[in-house]
Amino acid sequence: MSSLSSKILVINTGSSSLKFQLIEMYEERSIIRGTCERIGEEMGHIEYNKKGRIWNIDVPMADHRAAFAIIKKMLIEGETRGVKSLDEIAGIGHRAVQGGEKYVEATLVTQDVKDAITEMIPIAPIHNRATLSGFEAAEEAFGDLIPQVAVFDNAFHNTMKPEAYIYALPYEFYTDYKIRKYGYHGASHRYVTERLRELYPAYRRVISCHLGNGASLCAVLDGKCVDTTMGLTPLGGIMMGTRCGNIDPAIIPYLQNTTGMTADEIDYIMNNKSGLLGLSGVSSDLRDVEAAAAEGNYRAQIALDLFVYTAATYIAAVTVSLGGLDAIIFTAGIGENDPGMRKMICDRLKHFGVEIDDKINNEVRRRECSIASLDSKVGIFVIPTNEELVVARDTYKLIRSMKGDDLDD
Ligand code: ADP
Repeated sequence: MSSLSSKILVINTGSSSLKFQLIEMYEERSIIRGTCERIGEEMGHIEYNKKGRIWNIDVPMADHRAAFAIIKKMLIEGETRGVKSLDEIAGIGHRAVQGGEKYVEATLVTQDVKDAITEMIPIAPIHNRATLSGFEAAEEAFGDLIPQVAVFDNAFHNTMKPEAYIYALPYEFYTDYKIRKYGYHGASHRYVTERLRELYPAYRRVISCHLGNGASLCAVLDGKCVDTTMGLTPLGGIMMGTRCGNIDPAIIPYLQNTTGMTADEIDYIMNNKSGLLGLSGVSSDLRDVEAAAAEGNYRAQIALDLFVYTAATYIAAVTVSLGGLDAIIFTAGIGENDPGMRKMICDRLKHFGVEIDDKINNEVRRRECSIASLDSKVGIFVIPTNEELVVARDTYKLIRSMKGDDLDD
């Protein structure tokens, strides 16, 4: 048995939010989880959950440092306490979204890592600035006491071949400006595909469908990513809640020339006012769009149809990288909870031998389950995602190897 503490604090920093989770790694059990929201606003909010007991606290948090200071205090003091002292926390694992091509493994947060993330700010401005401020805030709160590890979300996609990640632009755009497909949602795609390999190792050619507000597909061959739908940024690929996904690139200069909108204005609309929201005019939330479509709202119906059509079309497209298809996994908000959407997507893939079991599918919400009919030639699964656990596992593994801890016990 190891002498190293077995608790990992996972941090996922957004521009105005901070999600945290303290995980006990022997049993991979969450002890504390929570979210700080509206950081930087006049009044912020913290939801803090200790083994099912929940505290909701309204408190101003000027920045991520202020949020961290409060969380640190709650972790070690009073009824909210999760550890007796900070040295019970073996490491802090940060979910870092975009580290470029350099990092394929979890890595200690060093100046080099910060520089790599800074260099990628033009490509992922919101995410990478948030990650950097998460590092700083954690360093300030915990000093050198606890090692900090960055787990890069795009690392899972670094196994793609050039044919999957290069755009047909002048090659210098790749070498000089780093323009290529990077992919996102890596921790989620990795978690669900690794889980399927544990459960059914025979499925070699797998497509993971992360369908949430942001949505992407990932083709995974023998556990390695061979293609994914998001691109240089999370705007690419299939249609999403507020993002348009892939469109004819000529639309952008056409809009600039005909409306006078700037590139930034168009970028904002494509990221925030498009997708389900832009088409339906109702909401970015699929439940609202489905309700509106059921009442006969034409635009909502188009939004729904296009969501199904693009998801199914891209599933078909990425089978090329796999040379066939053994299993499909549905995960994230929509994939885990919406049987109607799962059915509509699978029904468009019947020519691949994809056959869903309607009865089982209708009963499955947010739990691991096979939803394929007995006749299906392709496995179909719902697997709830767990991105934090991926970050915690990688962080723990790195810290144990650094400390010379026996990884096999
Ligand atoms: P994010 O990308 O913000 O993490 P989520 O994974 O939470 O997004 O997914 C949000 C989406 O999941 C929304 O479109 C919402 O409609 C959908 N969703 C969540 N719960 C359900 C549910 N019970 N039934 C249908 N859709 C759901």
